[in-house]
Amino acid sequence: MTGAAPPRVVVLGGGSAGWITACLLHKEWAARGGSVTVVESSGIGIIGVGEGSTPQLKGFFDHLGIAEAEWMAACEATWKLGIRFTGWSERAGYESYFHPFPGPVDLHSEPGFVHNCMLARRGFDVPAHPDDWFLATDLAEHARSPHPAENFPFAPSYGYHFDAHKLGAFLREWATARGVAHLDRTVSDIEVSEAGDVTALLCEGGERVEGDFFVDCSGFRGLIVQEKLGVKFVPFASNLFNDRAVVMPTPHDGTPKPQTDSIAMRAGWRWRIPLTTRVGNGYVYSSAHISDAEAEAELREALGQPEAEARFLTTKVGRVEETWRGNCLAAGLAQGFIEPLEATALHIVIATALEFAQAYEAGGFTPRHRDAFNASIATRYEGIRDYIVAHYRLNQRSDTDYWRANAANDHLSDGLKAMMSAWFRHEDMSRANDAAYGAKRYYANASWHCLFAGYGTFPPAEKMQPVPPGIGVADIEGTRGMIEACRTNFTAYDPLTL
Ligand SMILES: Cc1cc2nc3c(=O)[nH]c(=O)nc-3n(C[C@H](O)[C@H](O)[C@H](O)COP(=O)(O)OP(=O)(O)OC[C@H]3O[C@@H](n4cnc5c(N)ncnc54)[C@H](O)[C@@H]3O)c2cc1C
Repeated sequence: MTGAAPPRVVVLGGGSAGWITACLLHKEWAARGGSVTVVESSGIGIIGVGEGSTPQLKGFFDHLGIAEAEWMAACEATWKLGIRFTGWSERAGYESYFHPFPGPVDLHSEPGFVHNCMLARRGFDVPAHPDDWFLATDLAEHARSPHPAENFPFAPSYGYHFDAHKLGAFLREWATARGVAHLDRTVSDIEVSEAGDVTALLCEGGERVEGDFFVDCSGFRGLIVQEKLGVKFVPFASNLFNDRAVVMPTPHDGTPKPQTDSIAMRAGWRWRIPLTTRVGNGYVYSSAHISDAEAEAELREALGQPEAEARFLTTKVGRVEETWRGNCLAAGLAQGFIEPLEATALHIVIATALEFAQAYEAGGFTPRHRDAFNASIATRYEGIRDYIVAHYRLNQRSDTDYWRANAANDHLSDGLKAMMSAWFRHEDMSRANDAAYGAKRYYANASWHCLFAGYGTFPPAEKMQPVPPGIGVADIEGTRGMIEACRTNFTAYDPLTL
């Protein structure tokens, strides 16, 4: 902490990114005289998608001291224990797998899973499907609440599904009640000093909104950082082909599980996200491989909903070269976008705001630590991108040009090449992960194993051999028994009545 005064922060944009950033910076600095003003245009509105999170959203609410009872019902939110991937592999027995958010109990079963994966990678026929090894997977399958009984001190890690409009509205109310200023204005230009610092937002009608520091949360256009300051955009298009989405909400057709479903389609994948009032669906696809009309028809057929209304979105996949330039920070879609396969966007927003606050304050409210901060955020983006690229590169489908092109795509980072090489050469994946992504890595060893093993990335079934005597195999029966015993500490619930 330093003696310097915190800045007057102006946030442009009132989508999820704008309000999350405003809440976090207000919490950091309001008590010491910092102020936050959010400028958003109700005429322009928000993108209104982005309904799935990682456990970092739970961390965000905990950090602000907002209990689930306060916000979940208001945002039509449900719990999320992980993501079920279906149809990404054609290998028998691996048509579907669950990627859990690993929690404390999973630390006990993970070594057995990793051990059996190593045997299976070497061609031994042992149980190595991820679905058998994790408590969160079992709890999702049995639609259990993630809150354990009081005498069971091992809560799993979990995130949420929520309505993006309602989350923004809830945070706006929470923040403005605590002193964050809110202006409904359309910004027509950005005023920049000769030194290159932003001095004010210029609104339609002539009003100036001044500040010391500006956060660009204006969505894909990136009005301040990209359009005005000209920060370069680093596209990920050669790594990730999907650039369009068609979105179609539907009513519930049964009691949902606390999970996102990610289901492979002809030229992409579709999400299925259960809220308390509806199901959010969207097909993310590559416009080079399928037309809008074909994508819409395929999604309608999959949902069996000929009447549902469709909305199309174009995405811009990549990141800005510098998240923080001068007296401006970018957050949310203005900062970058990796497709929503692992629902990581808000996680990056939260990390950006918190890391920025630390770096800025450590430098006495100067840019002293800016380059280190920018490098850290870039590493985070690229680590997440690589994990998502791996879903495509390792896919085991051969039915369309899209899947064949993804499996043949050699635009891979050195880090991802190293991870793939380590898997196929039977090397220690944990060490490879450390070497490729270092301390800032986002995906843990368990996640990489779930992905490779979940697709059945092992030698062909006909080449698998029985395990010779003398080689230990992790005890799947014992693990299942342990998981089932743990499950008795979690109650069944109806997610639609949260
Ligand atoms: C298809 C798709 C699926 C996604 N799924 C997920 C997911 O499951 N999980 C996840 O974490 N993320 C997901 N995302 C990303 C997520 O939607 C965004 O990260 C999140 O909604 C934050 O958006 P934002 O606040 O940056 O932008 P927006 O919601 O677009 O907000 C932009 C704000 O800027 C304001 N604005 C713009 N121009 C002006 C102006 N001139 N004057 C005044 N105000 C202005 C707007 O009014 C608005 O308030 C998805 C994105 C897409 C495209």
